[in-house]
Amino acid sequence: MDRRILITGGRIADGLGGEPRSGDVLVVGERIAAVAPPGRLGAAGASLLDATGLVVAPGFIDVHSHADNAPLLPADDVGKILQGVTTEVVGNCGFSLAPAADEHRRALDEHLAQLFPPVKVRAARSGKDAAAWRDFGEFLRVCDAAGHVTNYCPLVGHGTLRIAAFGVADRPASVAELRLMVRLLDEALEAGAFGLSSGLIYPPGRYAGADELARLAARLGPRRIYATHMRSEGLGLADAIDEALTIGDRAGCRVQISHLKAMGRPAWGAVVPALRALDAARARGCAVGHDAYPYTASSTLLTTLLPPELLTGSHTEILDRLRRPDAAALLADAIGHGRPGWDNRIGSTGWQSVRIASSASGRFDGLTLAEVAATLEAPPAEALRRVLVTERLRVTAVTFGMSEDDVAAVLAHPSTMIGSDGAPPGVSGKPHPRGHGAFPRMLGRYVRDRRLVPLGPALRR
Ligand SMILES: [Zn+2]
Ligand SMILES: [Zn+2]
Repeated sequence: MDRRILITGGRIADGLGGEPRSGDVLVVGERIAAVAPPGRLGAAGASLLDATGLVVAPGFIDVHSHADNAPLLPADDVGKILQGVTTEVVGNCGFSLAPAADEHRRALDEHLAQLFPPVKVRAARSGKDAAAWRDFGEFLRVCDAAGHVTNYCPLVGHGTLRIAAFGVADRPASVAELRLMVRLLDEALEAGAFGLSSGLIYPPGRYAGADELARLAARLGPRRIYATHMRSEGLGLADAIDEALTIGDRAGCRVQISHLKAMGRPAWGAVVPALRALDAARARGCAVGHDAYPYTASSTLLTTLLPPELLTGSHTEILDRLRRPDAAALLADAIGHGRPGWDNRIGSTGWQSVRIASSASGRFDGLTLAEVAATLEAPPAEALRRVLVTERLRVTAVTFGMSEDDVAAVLAHPSTMIGSDGAPPGVSGKPHPRGHGAFPRMLGRYVRDRRLVPLGPALRR
C-alpha cells in the first residue's frame, strides 16, 4: 500500500499567488491526495507531520540551474532540495553536457572544464565511460540510469551545439554547419530537451549572430524556450533585450531572459527601462519571461573580463594570445580606456570588486584581483594575465557590480522568476553562495524582512 503522510497545523500556499491559509495536506504515495481545512482529514494509517508555525508550499522551480552534472556525481546533490527546489532547468548560458562529436571532443572538454568539475564519476563505477556519450538522448539515458534528486528539465546549450557541429571557429556558421546544428538540435528536442540556451558573452556562443540563433530557435516551436545569457548586461542591456525579443519574434518561440541585471556603476538603473521593455513586449503578445537571483554580486568565468581582442578564437588561441609579451599592456589599456560596445566590468567596478571563486590549482581562491596583484607583486593587469595563463583559463570569479536598488526592483517585479545560477555541484573553491542560498535569501531577506513581495505571490515565482 502507498505510504500516507498527513501534514497538519501549517499554513498552505497554493503556489498560484494566494496568501497561505490554515489547513491540512494528505499525501498518498507520490501524490497530494487531499487539501482541507484543519482537522477534516482522517489520520488513519498515516504518519503525521506537524507543520505548526510553518508554511506548506509546492516545490520551487529553479529556472536557471547549472546542475546538469548532478545525476553523475558520486553522492546525491542536495543543494537545491534543501532550499525547497524540486525542479531544475539545466543547460543554461550556452553550456550543456551534450551533444558531443568525436572530432571536436577536445574542444568541448576544454569548454566544459571551465564550468563543470569532471563528470565521469558515478557512471565510471557502472563500468561505462560517462563522457563517451554523443547525442543528447544517450546523455539523458546515462543521467536517468544514475538517478535524479530533483525533476530535470534540460536545455541544449548553443555553445555546446556549435562545438559539436564545427568546433570553436570565430565566425558565423556556414550553411552546412547550420544544417548540422539544426539536425543535432532536432535530435535533442526529440529526445526530451525543453529548449535552447545561449551564452553570448562566452566563446563560442559570442561568435554567433542573431540570424544563426533565430534559425536554431525556430526549431523550438511555440512551447519550448529559448533562454539567453545576453550579449550585454551593462550599458548595452537595452540592445541585448531587443536582440532576444527579435530572435523570439522571428523564431515564434518563448524567450527567457536569464539573470536580468545591470552590471557596473555606469549601467545602474538600466533594469527599470529593461523591465518596462519586457512588460511592453508581453503587452503586445510576446511570450517572454525573465529570472534573477537575489544578490548584488554575480559570478562567471574570469575570461569574460577580457576585452574582445583577447577573447577570440579557440581556448588554445586565447591562451597563446595571453602568453605574448604585449598581452598585459593591451589588457591594461583596454581596461583603462574601454572599447566600443564592450562591457568593461573591471573598469566599471574596480580590481577590488572581483574575487576569484575557483581556480584549477585552488591557489587563488578567495582573493580579489587587487589582492592577487599584491601577492604576485605585479600590476593588476599583469596579475590577471598570469592567473589566467597559469590556471589555463579554468578560473571563475565573483564580481560585486550591481546596485541593491536594481536587485530590489527586479525582484519586486511580478514576472520575475527566481533562478539560482549556482555553480555546478562538485565545483571546488569558494563559489558564489547563490547555489545554496538563492531561495531562502529571497524568502528571508526580501519577502519576510524587507516585505518587497507578499509571501503568496513570492511562492508563485
Ligand atoms: Zn549566464
Ligand atoms: Zn547561468
